[in-house]
Amino acid sequence: MAGIEDKILSFQDYMKKITDFNSAIALLDWDSRTKMPKKGVAARSEALGTLSSTVFQMQVSPEMRAFLEELEAGKDQLDLKTRRMLEISRKFYDLNQKIPAARFHEFVVLRTQAEAVWQEAKEKSDFAMFSPYLAKIVDMTKEFIGYWGHKDHLYDTLLDMYEEGLTVSVLDPLFANVRKQTIAILDQIKDAPKPDKHFLERRFDPEKQRQFSEFILHQMGYDFDAGRLDETVHPFATGIAPGDVRVTTKYLPNFFNSALFGSIHEGGHALYEQNISDDLAGTPLHTGVSMGIHESQSRFWENIIGRSHEFWQRYFPDLQKMFPDELSDVTTDQFYKAVNAVEPSFIRIEADEVTYNLHIMLRYELEKALITGDLKVADLPGAWNDKMQDYLGITPPNDSEGVLQDVHWSDGSFGYFPSYSLGNIYGAQMIRALGKDIPDYREQVAKGEFSSIRHWLKTHIHQYGSLYKPDEILRKATGEGVDTSAIFDYFNRKFGRIYGF
Ligand code: ZN
Repeated sequence: MAGIEDKILSFQDYMKKITDFNSAIALLDWDSRTKMPKKGVAARSEALGTLSSTVFQMQVSPEMRAFLEELEAGKDQLDLKTRRMLEISRKFYDLNQKIPAARFHEFVVLRTQAEAVWQEAKEKSDFAMFSPYLAKIVDMTKEFIGYWGHKDHLYDTLLDMYEEGLTVSVLDPLFANVRKQTIAILDQIKDAPKPDKHFLERRFDPEKQRQFSEFILHQMGYDFDAGRLDETVHPFATGIAPGDVRVTTKYLPNFFNSALFGSIHEGGHALYEQNISDDLAGTPLHTGVSMGIHESQSRFWENIIGRSHEFWQRYFPDLQKMFPDELSDVTTDQFYKAVNAVEPSFIRIEADEVTYNLHIMLRYELEKALITGDLKVADLPGAWNDKMQDYLGITPPNDSEGVLQDVHWSDGSFGYFPSYSLGNIYGAQMIRALGKDIPDYREQVAKGEFSSIRHWLKTHIHQYGSLYKPDEILRKATGEGVDTSAIFDYFNRKFGRIYGF
């Protein structure tokens, strides 16, 4: 019998092939969202479809099954990296080989159609148009949970796909707590004077916005020799390969926040991927471990650093120099308050730090009810509006600014939304832990010095890639599991100063 060393080497080769395919997929996908001419769409979709199903087949193949069985038998002799690759591969194999290939294919086709229909329905604010597609997606998701299996709650199976190990039994009390404390802050803010933010809607030359975004990314330590910044409609960051992690943003001529804070957000995702240990290169572990940990990094840079007073103490003079006509009559303090204004709003992606989590909770509760069957798709718009009124005290004027605003449901990504709030919560826990190791980090931000912050993130989070589970990474970084006390200490301190409570 061949030694286990040989088996390990062949397994690593096999995983490297999958990694290379995924790299090609990521590059084609980046290109189709940034540079591709319109007429390239059809052929590109086919190429992406072929590559994706090749990867899928490799992950559920008889060859994979043989690797899993033989290596699991000799588990004690495997190093940590191989064990973790095996664990991830086993999980994927068990989940996906149970789904009949024909049903999987139907689901892929349905999602593609549903996304196109959603786009049109959103433009026309016509939920009835999208409703039959969404109903099918919900039904198929429930059917798949039947194949995948579940432990306590049907929704746990979906959560686990984005945040390994997370369950409804953890999230329900966590979110109940976030809701209670958020409402308490909003109550205190309600009667305070509103910050003036009209100057954020002056005309900001897109080319200058690009230059400033690039400047800030350099300052953060984003490595332009291992990445690039491009323009797109729906901004994203993507790790194509070690040494190639790209960011995108969108320049709105009449609204300042979008491009810069979007760039910082995507830059936070990218710093994570750029600082994964080289030791994990060529394996599926060379990527962020979960959506929640990924969002903790993006929102850490965007909000905790990028919307801090110290940050603008340092960079507002530079911004004024770039936009003298637009910002010479604005003080650092006014600017800081404007980019941190808290106000209930309809659109999640434009929400401030405090109300943002309420947008997530609303989606989480509706998703759970759809999956358990407590809520019918036809009743979704009404349920959405009721919850908006209940949580934020406002009712959307139409469905395109309400239930139709996000792409996620057309894509079948149920279980994804909670990652955003987890990211906010994790990020606050991380800055609290970082503050113990680097007590003067605020002074450093005020000087535009980010190297020790970056080093801390790399040492405690980034380097590990997907080597550990999300909860293990959080515990390694902060010494604790998920906990909401840090985010509310942070909110109360920050917004208490801005709004005087
Ligand atoms: Zn993000």
